[in-house]
Amino acid sequence: MSEPRLHSWSTVLMGSPIILSLLIDDRDLAGRVFRLIQRYEDALTVNRAVSQVMAINHAAGLHPVKVSSAVFDLIRCAKEASLVSGSVFNLAIGPLVKLWRIGFQGNRIPDRDEIADRLLLTRPTDVILDVADRSVFLAHAGMEIDLGAIAKGYIADRVRDFLRQQGVEQALINLGGNVLTLGAPQGTWSVGVKKPFAAADALVGVVEVANKSVVTSGIYERWFEQDGKRWHHILDPRNGYPLDNELESVTIVSGDSLDGDVWTTLLYGFGVEKGCALLRQREDIEAIFITKNRDVILSSQRQFRFTLLDDSYRVSACTA
Ligand code: AMP
Ligand code: MG
Repeated sequence: MSEPRLHSWSTVLMGSPIILSLLIDDRDLAGRVFRLIQRYEDALTVNRAVSQVMAINHAAGLHPVKVSSAVFDLIRCAKEASLVSGSVFNLAIGPLVKLWRIGFQGNRIPDRDEIADRLLLTRPTDVILDVADRSVFLAHAGMEIDLGAIAKGYIADRVRDFLRQQGVEQALINLGGNVLTLGAPQGTWSVGVKKPFAAADALVGVVEVANKSVVTSGIYERWFEQDGKRWHHILDPRNGYPLDNELESVTIVSGDSLDGDVWTTLLYGFGVEKGCALLRQREDIEAIFITKNRDVILSSQRQFRFTLLDDSYRVSACTA
């Protein structure tokens, strides 16, 4: 059987390369997908002065802000994920993200006192939601919501919904690390899992999936080096420093990309052992952990097939 011909379009949005691949040559549709992503980025970004989320942040300590139902639902979901017992996911992490500026100009190791001060402004329970009014209120001046860990996942899901509405049955959308697949041209789509701290195109392996989201969070994505150490962009809300454990990346295979985005951060915090134990109760969520010791640890593999490409890594299964 000959390979089906893929048509791909790319752009840069949300500070990331975005690629859409279709089996049909429809430039107009690709343009509509990119405009949809742009509209959601405009609502959710915290990297510009104006957005719905920035309106909430600017009104911190002052008054609630009414937002669209899409933004409200995403914030509600982010708050829930932040309140899971032992969660390192924190939607109110903004003050610390802005202090470190990791991945942006002016990144630096802050003073301990600055970190301690900002930690007081990151309590998820101080994000007050009014469902009836669809408004969000940050209880203290200086608080900031940051949806950077999940915005791409949410938007990827909306792109999938839009493509389905348009009658598209096969597609792959890559939002800078959040890959969402529709159907599969030859049974499965292949999605690469990046090799941490290596050339941009170096892969540890490939995941084969159909109709799934594949999301990776890795400490190699944004970081800077100072005092002989790498400081990366996934922050530990318990102490205000980059999360320090055995992991270099976590990839989640799931139905929805939003789940994948939440779970990459959650599992990043829990680590391999606790993460594997948690996954046993969630058939819908699967993970690929990559550790600093070059171990690749796979969950049940009901929803994907993994092929190792770099034999300096060892593959094993979750034992928990
Ligand atoms: P990701 O690339 O999906 O792993 O998300 C990383 C981004 O999420 C960072 O650049 C921050 O904007 C934000 N972030 C960092 N630490 C956390 C955290 N503990 N909880 C939620 N969001 C975070
Ligand atoms: Mg994420």
